[in-house]
Parts: sequence; structure tokens; C-alpha cells
Amino acid sequence: MSQATYQGTALVPLADLTPFPGNAKRGDVATILASLRRHGQYRSLVVQHIEHEPEVGVDLSNPRTHAPRRRLVVLAGNHTMAALAEHGPGDCRRTFLDQGQQHPCGICGNDPAWEPAARCELVACDEDTARRINLVDNRAADLGGYDADALAELLSFLDDDYGATGYQEADVLRLLAPPPSLEELADTYRHPEDEDMWPVLRFTVPPEARDDFYDLTATCSNPNDDATRFRYLLDRARAAPTP
Ligand SMILES: [Zn+2]
Repeated sequence: MSQATYQGTALVPLADLTPFPGNAKRGDVATILASLRRHGQYRSLVVQHIEHEPEVGVDLSNPRTHAPRRRLVVLAGNHTMAALAEHGPGDCRRTFLDQGQQHPCGICGNDPAWEPAARCELVACDEDTARRINLVDNRAADLGGYDADALAELLSFLDDDYGATGYQEADVLRLLAPPPSLEELADTYRHPEDEDMWPVLRFTVPPEARDDFYDLTATCSNPNDDATRFRYLLDRARAAPTP
């Protein structure tokens, strides 16, 4: 079996879900929690449903022990689950203002009886497929990019209220006036071949060599500048008769 088979969608208590073992992605739980509070859980977790056969030798007349145990492993949405766990049970007492109206928390609905649960799409697949789904779900998001113009336009509809979008005003300003590229900076200031980019010579010599250097270059055009002294010395060396 190399494909995931959709089995159905269910609201699953968080306590029944297992985070994907060894998930490598480190998501931004705070941003997801803010989004869940404001928007509710608009996307289901994708959960691998592993059905266990009853263990051999158990008492089949006892429904507590012979009921098939199942394991629910979160393939995609591990950080949504973490955000729901961080919210915790009960009324978080958070509300938010939208267009002059106060709205309840999109997770708990400000219900004191709320128990942490996530809407999950249950799929059946083998372990190899589960691992691959977990990897590609994270990776595909990383590999995507943005059309900056389209993004700036979308954000412009928000009337400066970027709450729970993961964006802040500074991000929007950066989009509208992106920082200059290295080439633009070089154009504005100076080119790399300008003096600031020249190599720096620094070396250690005995005191008498230093004294010779200053004596031999005392008549250069700018004795206050060691670089001028050094180039003067080179000119003298070049002009000297070849032995
Ligand atoms: Zn809440």
C-alpha cells in the first residue's frame, strides 16, 4: 500500500492523538494559536489511523480488553495540535474585536466545558507512506515561494489589521519598499573596486625595519599616510637600477 486511503473525518480528543514520532519540522505554534483563536480550525489534521488487532491470549469476553485498540498518529498538523494543547481545556476568556463586534475564541467558543479536540481526517496507510507524507507535507510548504506583488495586494485589503495573519506592519512596509539589493547598494554608495574594498596589509617587522621604512619614505607626497609611503617605496624600488 503506497497511497493513503481516506476513511473519514472525526473530532478527536487531543488525548487520543499521537504526535508524529520524530517530526523534524519546528512550526510557529504562537502564530497558529493566534490564527485558531481568530479563525477557528479551518483545516483538519491528517491522521494515520492504525487499527490494532486484539492481542493474542486476551479474554475475548471482556470488552475492555478485547476491544481493538487503535493508534492515531498525526501526519500533518502537528503544530496545530500543539497550539490546541497550548490553549488547554476550558474558556480562555479571549475574545477579539472585528469591525466593531466582539467575537468569541475560535477554539473554545469561551465555553468553560470545552475539552481540547481537533477535527481530523483519518487515513489508512503503511509506515513508509506515513513517513513520506509527513516529510513532503512539511517540505512542500518550505519549497513554495511568494509573488510579492500579489501578497502586498492581499494584505492591502486588511485595513492595517494584520491580527492572526502572521504578518505585521513592518512586514508590509518591507514588501512595499523592499530593502535594496547588494548591487543597488553598491550603485548608491561606492563600487567594490573603490578604495574601501582594497586589501589591507598588516605585518610585523623589527623596529629597525620600521625606522628604515619611515626614513626611506620621509620625502613622499603625504608622510601622514602609510599607504602613500608604501607606494612611494614601491616606486623607488621600481626606479632603482636592476643589480
Ligand atoms: Zn479559547
